[in-house]
Amino acid sequence: MRKNIVAGNWKMNNDLSQTESLLADLKSQTKSSDAEVMVAPAFTNLYQANEALKSSSIEVIAQNMHFAENGAYTGEISASMLKSVGVKTVILGHSERREYFNETDASLAKKVDAALTNNLRIIFCFGEVLADRKSNTQEAIVESQISNALFHLDADAFKNIVLAYEPVWAIGTGETASPEQAQDMHAFIRKTLADKYGNDVANNTSILYGGSCKPGNAKEIFSKPDVDGGLIGGAALNADDFFAIVNAF
Ligand code: PEP
Repeated sequence: MRKNIVAGNWKMNNDLSQTESLLADLKSQTKSSDAEVMVAPAFTNLYQANEALKSSSIEVIAQNMHFAENGAYTGEISASMLKSVGVKTVILGHSERREYFNETDASLAKKVDAALTNNLRIIFCFGEVLADRKSNTQEAIVESQISNALFHLDADAFKNIVLAYEPVWAIGTGETASPEQAQDMHAFIRKTLADKYGNDVANNTSILYGGSCKPGNAKEIFSKPDVDGGLIGGAALNADDFFAIVNAF
């Protein structure tokens, strides 16, 4: 059966000492939860974060990686580099990567392959922009993002894939998809998976919601049957808020 997951994406926030202090706060608040809990610090702090959380149930994950194994890609980080500092899961396709760093479905398909070849689990992000929602084309957009980047894979690969639906208009804006909008889209995503791979893959794949998820709205969003947790941005930078969301399950 699929897992509930709450993952915090710290983005380009927290230097080493801020990372250590947030991790200490998180560690002190960890209690057993029905959800898998993950945090994604900056690349420079992954090693220390993994050391700090070794004895905890919180997993340290990465925010991105390059598709090549190594070579002349100045400033980039490979899957095997992530693995060498203990990372087992990587976020791919975040809307900020798509918007500011020109990531496309085609380049993401290459990253997906590289991550899976290196036995990394993927949290694959996608979602429509406001204009798509206004023109009611959000389902077609989401379907194309998923199929272009993932549907060359075989069914078995989905054991290592978590999906994260993040409507771009709700990320960092304070505007959240209503629980019904989230449920409708998650049900559509699950049906899209079922049509391509069958019910087993569809029912066993976790689908997270992301977009201004906060302590005040997490419970209602997570109560929807096709929402299996959240990818959390702003609220993941505060241990009290983050654990209030984790404890919404
Ligand atoms: C995100 O960046 O993935 C995100 C969901 O951000 P926020 O929670 O701040 O909207």
